Amino acid sequence: MPSLRQVVRGTHGILEGFQIPDSRLEAEVMVMNTMRMPRQDLFANQETEVSPQQEQELAEIIERRRKREPLAYILGYKEFYGITLLVNSNVLIPRPETESMVEHALFMALMGMETAELVIADVGTGTGAIAINLAIHLPAAQIYAMDLTDEVLDVASYNVRAHNVADRIMLLKGDLLEPLPQPVDLIVANLPYVPSQRIPTLQPEIQWEPRQALDGGEEGLDQIRRLLEQAAGSPLEDGDGGRLPGRLKDIGIILLELDPEQVPAVKEMADRLFPGAETSVEPDISQRDRIFVINRGQMLSP
Ligand code: GLN
Repeated sequence: MPSLRQVVRGTHGILEGFQIPDSRLEAEVMVMNTMRMPRQDLFANQETEVSPQQEQELAEIIERRRKREPLAYILGYKEFYGITLLVNSNVLIPRPETESMVEHALFMALMGMETAELVIADVGTGTGAIAINLAIHLPAAQIYAMDLTDEVLDVASYNVRAHNVADRIMLLKGDLLEPLPQPVDLIVANLPYVPSQRIPTLQPEIQWEPRQALDGGEEGLDQIRRLLEQAAGSPLEDGDGGRLPGRLKDIGIILLELDPEQVPAVKEMADRLFPGAETSVEPDISQRDRIFVINRGQMLSP
C-alpha cells in the first residue's frame, strides 16, 4: 500500500497535469478529506499507509475535479471568515472578497452599537455566509436573510442551525427586499453582478455555479439597481411607479459588493435615489474596490 507521502505527491502531480490552480494545496486538502485527518496529522503521519478503499475514494474526487467541478462542491463545504459552511451546486461558493463585506459591516455596526439593537437584511444570502458571521459577532442584532428559492434557503437553513444562530436569523423567501416585514438599519448584499456576456469567458469552475447568483444582466447591475430602488422606495426613472414604502431606515446604511469598474454607475444611482447620503468604497483583500457603501445617516458612522 502507498504511503501518505506518496499519495499526496501523486495527487499533486495528477492535478498539475490537469492544470488545476493551487494544485499542491488542493492535493493536500483532498487527501486530508479522504483520510479524515486534520492538516497537522497529514505532515506528522507521512508514512501511514493508504488503503485501497481510501485510494478509490480519492480517485473519485480527482475524477470530478478533472472536469473542473469546484473543490468546494466535491467536498461539500467551504471555509469563510473562520467558519465552515455547507455548500452545494444550488449556491454560490463564498469568496474571500466577500469577507471584506463582513469586516466592514461589523466595523460599522460596532461603531453604532450603543444606540440600538440593529436590524439587518442580507439580500441574496446563498449559504448564509454573511448573515451567519454577522449574527455570531453581533449578538444583539436581528437579521433577515433572503433568497429566491427553497433549494437555496435549505442550504442557508442548515448553516444557520449548524452555527447556532437560528434564534436571530429569520430566513425569508422572495424578490430582494420584498419579503421584509420592517425597515432595516443595515442592508448587506452580494447580488449577482457579472455582466451576462462575460460569464462564458470566466474560469471553468464558475460555469458549475448557479447562473442566477452570478448573472447581473447586460452591465451586471440589474439586481443592484432594483435593490436600490426597493430600498429607497422610488424608481430611478420617474413616471409610472411613484413612491412606495422604503425598506431602509432614514439613518440606514447599504453595503453592496461589486466590481471596481461598476463604482461610477452605482454612485450615480445612489446619488439619485438617496440624495444627501454619503457614499464611499472599501477595498477587498486584493486591494481592489469591492464594497460600495451608502450611508444615509449618522447613527452607524464612525
Ligand atoms: N466575484 C464573483 C466572481 O467573480 C462574483 C460574485 C457575484 O456576482 N456576486 O465570481
